[in-house]
Amino acid sequence: MGEEQINEEKIDEEMAEDDLLGGLKIDTTADIEVPDRLVDQVIGQDHARDIVLKAAKQRRHVMMIGSPGTGKSMLAKAMSQLLPREELQDILVYHNPDDGNEPKIRTVPAGKGDQIVDAHKEEARKRNQMRSFLMWIIIAIVLGYALILRQQLLIGILAAGIIYLVFRYSSRGSDAMIPNLLVNNADKQTAPFEDATGAHAGALLGDVRHDPFQSGGMETPSHDRVEPGAIHKSNKGVLFIDEINTLDIRSQQKLMTAIQEGEFSITGQSERSSGAMVQTEPVPTDFIMVAAGNLDAMENMHPALRNRIKGYGYEVYMDDTIEDTPEMRRKYSRFIAQEVKKDGRLPHFTRTAAEELILEARRRSGRKGHLTLELRALGGLVRVAGDIARAEDAEFTTRDHVLQAKGRSRSIEQQLADDYIERRKDYDMTIAQGNVGGRVNGLAVMGEDSGIVMPVMAEVAPSQGPGEVIATGNLQDIAQEAVQNVSAIIKKFSDEDISKRDIHIQYVQSYEGVEGDSASVTMATAVISSLEDIPIDQSVAMTGSLSVRGDVLPVGGVTHKIEAAAKAGVETVIIPAANMQDVMIEDEYKEMIEIIPVSHISEVLDIALVGEPEKDSLVDRLKSITGQALESGSAT
Ligand code: ADP
Repeated sequence: MGEEQINEEKIDEEMAEDDLLGGLKIDTTADIEVPDRLVDQVIGQDHARDIVLKAAKQRRHVMMIGSPGTGKSMLAKAMSQLLPREELQDILVYHNPDDGNEPKIRTVPAGKGDQIVDAHKEEARKRNQMRSFLMWIIIAIVLGYALILRQQLLIGILAAGIIYLVFRYSSRGSDAMIPNLLVNNADKQTAPFEDATGAHAGALLGDVRHDPFQSGGMETPSHDRVEPGAIHKSNKGVLFIDEINTLDIRSQQKLMTAIQEGEFSITGQSERSSGAMVQTEPVPTDFIMVAAGNLDAMENMHPALRNRIKGYGYEVYMDDTIEDTPEMRRKYSRFIAQEVKKDGRLPHFTRTAAEELILEARRRSGRKGHLTLELRALGGLVRVAGDIARAEDAEFTTRDHVLQAKGRSRSIEQQLADDYIERRKDYDMTIAQGNVGGRVNGLAVMGEDSGIVMPVMAEVAPSQGPGEVIATGNLQDIAQEAVQNVSAIIKKFSDEDISKRDIHIQYVQSYEGVEGDSASVTMATAVISSLEDIPIDQSVAMTGSLSVRGDVLPVGGVTHKIEAAAKAGVETVIIPAANMQDVMIEDEYKEMIEIIPVSHISEVLDIALVGEPEKDSLVDRLKSITGQALESGSAT
């Protein structure tokens, strides 16, 4: 179904496997065809795509859960394009002569609404013309009569004035007969798509405007003050609500009623306004709802609403990454063409520029052999690069533009981290040379995508009472755990009894918003160094989590951490062996730093500690007890 829109003859099968563009034979992205239908433009998300196709056919609601920018609203919009256009309706509100506060609702096929309103206007115009005509004749007669009777002229003019006012006033009544076209689908090429994300009650459920002149003939008739909500505008189409959990509970309840009944009256939303007295007849709300959010959206969602969707629709989880295959890389090339076309002003990408972008998609996936599906952010990079090219009046966006764009579109966290690293360099707080006891260059992640070097210091001192682990701030829990794990190991090889000592642990300079969960290897190393009085090589940085048995377990954000270490001038970085597949550092860092994968704390100490005899004996002892530690570890 037009899924693979890319021309067969444009693919070089032989080179597809290794080629960054999956074997596409193109010079620039201008050579790539972009499919017309939005649903064919969606990349990855096969599961969600299938569900949307199915749900559109069966008119079912859909709940999409996943990271921002992975195509939820795109799919919802694509769904609206799949719905039959023939079913669209216009909705009119009429004055109700029996009860002015309960306007009547009429539904007609799309396009008819305009005609009806025009016909009413024409009729009113004719009627007014007739009335005017009549009015002027009467005035003429009155004035003529008064003129004949000479002395009565003043009274005649007065009478003419009164007649004029009476006509004017009563003609307002005939305007009130013109219906208000609440929903107009005359010019719609596809079924409506309404995004009600973050909508307040009025925008979602409709409203009746306040009328400052509530009586005395100056008032606007109530049906003219009725305004549709997204639930009405999306009738026969798609209602999309992202961050569904942020919708207040009352609105969620009403939304549910609209779904259940297929219609929902419009009333004024602010209680004190005159609009609150008005309530229309039920207005159709036959929409398909696509609700979206991240995982905790489901928890805070009204349970009945969730059940409604579950019972009468589909729930689907959006993928964050997709396997990196030649076919996928071809689609990512098409993605660039799509984004360029959508923007309308950006120069197309050269081959090497497109390749750089696909490399970035790999990097951002944070997973070996995958590409990121957070395509809104990647689209942002396409736009920034294209804008740079445009500012230079370049014919095409080049690889250099993409590289510049990557520097420019750094997240706030990245910018903060850069700034932080700069400042630390000023104060010389990152030590990347020499040997220091009890001090380890740890690595942490700031935000989602920025690494930072976080030195940890440990000091072991005799304690008066039972030993304590003393750490600063949010480190306390992690420190406690790290020390516990390390003490299980230390007991096996050292005469030192750390339960009778105080262990102080601190970050040399802690920083708001830094996650420290991956610091246990760092802390353990610092503690052992301090305890055994063996210094640590400061040109080494490390990250990793530690088990009771001394195993080094994988952690998050290794790529960013390694890059941060390289930037800070560190020469060697120790990472958990299990994380090796996640390393996707940029080329510029590859020469700056050596990456050593480890799987046991003894390897860490072998690399990080300095001073031959003491270190060697320590590492040997550690290695020799590994077997024992393993056994006792598995026993506990
Ligand atoms: P979400 O609703 O999940 O936050 P959107 O659907 O608004 O994300 O995505 C924003 C933009 O990012 C889209 O308009 C499109 O340009 C691009 N995009 C996101 N996901 C995809 C995808 N799976 N395929 C193609 N483009 C995508």
